[in-house]
Amino acid sequence: MIRQFELVERVKAYDPAADEDVLNKAYVFAMKAHGSQKRASGDPYFSHPLEVAGILTHYRLDAASIATALLHDTIEDTPATLADIREKFGDDIARLVDGVTKLTRIELQSDHAKQAENFRKLLLAMSEDIRVLLVKLADRLHNMRTLHFIKNPEKRRRIAMETMDIFAPLAERIGMQELKNELEDLAFAELNTDARNSILARLKFLREEGEDVVKRVVAQLGETMRAAGLDAEVMGREKTPYSIWRKMQHNNVGFEQLSDIMAFRLVVPTVEDCYKALGVAHGAYPVVPGRFKDYISTPKPNGYQSLHTGVIGPEQQRIEVQIRTREMHEVADYGVAAHWHYKQGGDRRDGRQYRWLRELLDILEHAAGPEDFLEHTKLEMFQDQVFCFTPRGDLINLPNGATPVDFAYAVHSEVGDTCVGAKINGRMMPLRTELMNGDQVEILTSKAQTPSPTWERFVVTGKARARVRRFVRLKQREQYLHLGRAILQRVFQEEGYEYADKALKGVLKVFDVDEVEDLCAQVGMGHLTGRAVLEAVFPGTKKRRVVEKVVSLARARARKTKGKGEAIPIRGLIPGMAMHFAGCCHPLPGDRIVGIVTTGKGVTIHTIDCDRLEEFADQPERWIDVAWDADAKAAAEGLVGRITLTVMNEPGSLGTLSMVIGKNEGNISNLKITNRTTDFFDMLIDIEVRDVRHLTDIIAALRATPVINSVDRARG
Ligand code: MN
Repeated sequence: MIRQFELVERVKAYDPAADEDVLNKAYVFAMKAHGSQKRASGDPYFSHPLEVAGILTHYRLDAASIATALLHDTIEDTPATLADIREKFGDDIARLVDGVTKLTRIELQSDHAKQAENFRKLLLAMSEDIRVLLVKLADRLHNMRTLHFIKNPEKRRRIAMETMDIFAPLAERIGMQELKNELEDLAFAELNTDARNSILARLKFLREEGEDVVKRVVAQLGETMRAAGLDAEVMGREKTPYSIWRKMQHNNVGFEQLSDIMAFRLVVPTVEDCYKALGVAHGAYPVVPGRFKDYISTPKPNGYQSLHTGVIGPEQQRIEVQIRTREMHEVADYGVAAHWHYKQGGDRRDGRQYRWLRELLDILEHAAGPEDFLEHTKLEMFQDQVFCFTPRGDLINLPNGATPVDFAYAVHSEVGDTCVGAKINGRMMPLRTELMNGDQVEILTSKAQTPSPTWERFVVTGKARARVRRFVRLKQREQYLHLGRAILQRVFQEEGYEYADKALKGVLKVFDVDEVEDLCAQVGMGHLTGRAVLEAVFPGTKKRRVVEKVVSLARARARKTKGKGEAIPIRGLIPGMAMHFAGCCHPLPGDRIVGIVTTGKGVTIHTIDCDRLEEFADQPERWIDVAWDADAKAAAEGLVGRITLTVMNEPGSLGTLSMVIGKNEGNISNLKITNRTTDFFDMLIDIEVRDVRHLTDIIAALRATPVINSVDRARG
């Protein structure tokens, strides 16, 4: 284990101004928090965060990152809370530790191998501060180094696959080649032990046979460069077993044919020297065609720069040569971390305030070649997206602002069409709730449910919108048809005719429609009156006498029929489509009601004593008798009754008021104070009720309440 003073010294070595206190405090805090916990290896648990911190000192990260590494498992695995960490270490470190904890939770949640690309995006999107991601990658690296201690082979395999599919590509994407290579090779060791062992054995054989070819090539390359007057540092290495393996697969060649298992690097002072060195190499050794790549003029999307070429080297073997400057070399191994370090070196204070994410974007943006630009570099892109999980752990990728309804449609159209509710992270939430990154969403469905017209107002995905719209349009037509036919039946009946669909066939041309259904729908929508259709079918029908007092007549009739008999039942009509409840009088089941046909909108239902009805007194053709149907209570779920009331302005009076309504099973859906004096409040309250009797009961209960002066149902 790295000792406390060692860790501090390592950080101080590259950052003399680093905050020693924070490092010491984090060391002690994490050690105490993890206490006697043990790793699978039998080591004290604290050795893990400590090693993670050690890995990050290699990348010369700032003290806050190192402290975060020490603390990264405390929230998830010990009694320590985020609040404790904020109190002891301040907002910056608390935010970082919280970020790493969130990534860890996400990581545990899902079987994401199938959706690796989405998952990588999610991790990037959630790492608002790139340091969070760097700590997470170091965490993964140490877990991979100690993977063999885990006893369960399935678990080992799952972790290795995840590393291969998600974390190694992520490291590559932010330019951390060295970390990526190690992650891949550790995963390879678990996933394909035999292949790796045979490559290692073969490498060993070649090494012995060649008597340290690498060393000799390094020496001779160095000599060649010096002879040309170039100051080049030459490094040689064998490639990792995994990269050799991949090359074997990729090129479909056996190990014997695969000669370039060695890679050499020339690090020179300037960009100009890079091209000079390339010329020297090409002059001194035979060039292998097709291997030259200039990543200096066209860097890789992750910021990588170098010249690559292949030559038949001094030992008559094919070798790969990479030529780069010192800065390029650091960027190649340390990626974004190196870049940060360089910036940091300039002006400390500026560097500290610099937003990490923006910096990463900068690198990616300036470095990227035209190809794959969007796919690989636009981290920003992910800011317009949210990534959510199904209960099974599948990732669903949605645009920002998406709701559970969008989620449901993304899972399957059927799920969308029948969704009735949603649990977000285990809690029931409204369907209009905006989803956040990492939310786990469970959609509740019911076969009886159909898309609601109100969904159109809040869905954001094209798929959801199109489905809802299409459904609403279809349903609406069905509803207009239903209503129109009912109106026609009634008008025919009034004049003593029997209504039949086929009676309308002869007059379709008159109204310029193709089908009987269209004609009915036109009547339902209020574009045509039932009377006009009747007169077309039976031209002899005498004009209806003008009804002077349509309001009082209709009222009288409604009283007489008590909502039965000739009246058109509103059964089967969905509120909000062909039928609307008037907002002025809020009709409730049990109220006597009348319908007013509104052009293009179907029928609006008013209570028979609504003041607004006077406005339609001179348009008798728009009035229709309507009645609640028998199971109106079920249909009218969520209906709202409106009351006006005056309550005394004193402590607790509003509490009493809402308690009385609640006790009577009323649900307040809206409340407005319309007037306020020193003694009284005048208010308007909307209450969800079952029917008019329910509302009457509530009104009675309110009237019996001392702090309430007067209560009335609101009219018109
Ligand atoms: Mn960890």
